[in-house]
Amino acid sequence: MQTIENFLRDVERRNPHAPHLLQAVEEVARGVWPLLHANPQWLDAGIMERLVEPDRSISFRVRWRDDAGQVHVDRGYRVQQNRLLGPYKGGLRFADHVDEGVMRFLAFEQTFKGALTGLPLGGAKGGATFDPRGRSAEEVRRFCYAFMTELRHHIGPDKDVPAGDIGVGEREVGFLYGAYRELGGLAAGAMTGKAVAWGGIPLRTEATGYGLIYMVCTALAHHDRALEGLRCAVSGAGNVARHAAAKALEMGARVVSLSNSQGVAHWPDGLRAEQLEQVADAQSNGARLSDVASKVGASFEASAKPWDLPDIDVALPCATQNELGANDAKALLASGRLQLVAEGANMPCTSDATQAFVDAGVLLLPGKAANAGGVATSGLEMSQNAQRKPWTRDTVDEELKACMRRIHDRCVEFGGESSTVDYAAGANRAAFHRLATTMEALG
Ligand code: NDP
Repeated sequence: MQTIENFLRDVERRNPHAPHLLQAVEEVARGVWPLLHANPQWLDAGIMERLVEPDRSISFRVRWRDDAGQVHVDRGYRVQQNRLLGPYKGGLRFADHVDEGVMRFLAFEQTFKGALTGLPLGGAKGGATFDPRGRSAEEVRRFCYAFMTELRHHIGPDKDVPAGDIGVGEREVGFLYGAYRELGGLAAGAMTGKAVAWGGIPLRTEATGYGLIYMVCTALAHHDRALEGLRCAVSGAGNVARHAAAKALEMGARVVSLSNSQGVAHWPDGLRAEQLEQVADAQSNGARLSDVASKVGASFEASAKPWDLPDIDVALPCATQNELGANDAKALLASGRLQLVAEGANMPCTSDATQAFVDAGVLLLPGKAANAGGVATSGLEMSQNAQRKPWTRDTVDEELKACMRRIHDRCVEFGGESSTVDYAAGANRAAFHRLATTMEALG
């Protein structure tokens, strides 16, 4: 019988230059191996091996011209991981850290996330080595056009439906979708994250952050606790972080930080909703968090992280992968107050940090469950586009809440043997169970 050690060795041998993928696969494998032992036919059928290997991984040259007339060559990617449950689905990331290994890990995670939503969604991820920060709008538009010139051959409403991610917000989705249409693809359902005026669904922008907090509230309530009054450290200052902070404030929490790759903005007594709006406005006009911090009542500490702040009850890492390491976990645990960590970003906690939280009995909501509100709402946007009938904000919000509760309950069903639910194992097992039973049923 295949052992987990042999399986992981084999994954490492086949993917020697993809450390993020190995980290993500090991985390899933350790969660699902007991399920495989209880169902040895899934081991014999090589279900895990089939889930790790993408259906296909596409990389392509993106050639574009900057405002000074200089030609640049970037690399674009689309990893179509698995379409067992529905069309490939997953965001596009524009950042200079993008490479095939990062795309592979995100596409693998996305397959499990899609499965957890209960919706008909497969898994994919894509992006490019292009960083839109500091580029003019016209440069970004030219890049998006060049990127879509190739990507359009691989996507479509029943085939593969990209959305945004780091570096790809509503503006970039607009340019990409505009290029897709101009190049001949008229289907509105070929991308999600569109603005409401041109085929998007209300609340898609907010959905990942709001969904994160719905899941936090549900998990706390399941353990007879509440978010109200708790001190939350949020990392990031982008889409996920800002909307998570806004919803946490609405739920009565005290949000004490936002951050970016330069440092941390700290509000010792808690950020107010209007200050958060000012941050968002300033950022949309091109300012950085450090430029605006003092104007919105925060101190800004360069090169610092939110995890060193005192007396944190809830940590919400919403920036990027592996942003919270073992030393950060130690700092968060030092006050003895930490109750819950919920991953707004994809795999923001390193394996060591995750283990430290589990050992300390802290509730840990893994990204594939806690940030699934974004892809779930993208699934609703696909339904809306297929129906050609707009949905209301209230309907979407109710669906989002129901989806996050369903995901929570599936995690409890598969990871709730002890009084403190093991959400990480529960999420991996629940998603794997759906994928494995489907693969089995489809022969
Ligand atoms: P954005 O581009 O809107 O924001 C990213 C934020 O993270 C920025 O404030 C950025 O700061 C900060 N950041 C990036 N790198 C670091 C770092 N090393 N240390 C500290 N801060 C950093 O992206 P999103 O909010 O959309 O995505 C954030 C995370 O959430 C990603 O992991 C993404 O995959 C995940 N996610 C996003 C979804 C969505 O719907 N958008 C859905 C599900 C998951 P700076 O500007 O300085 O780089």
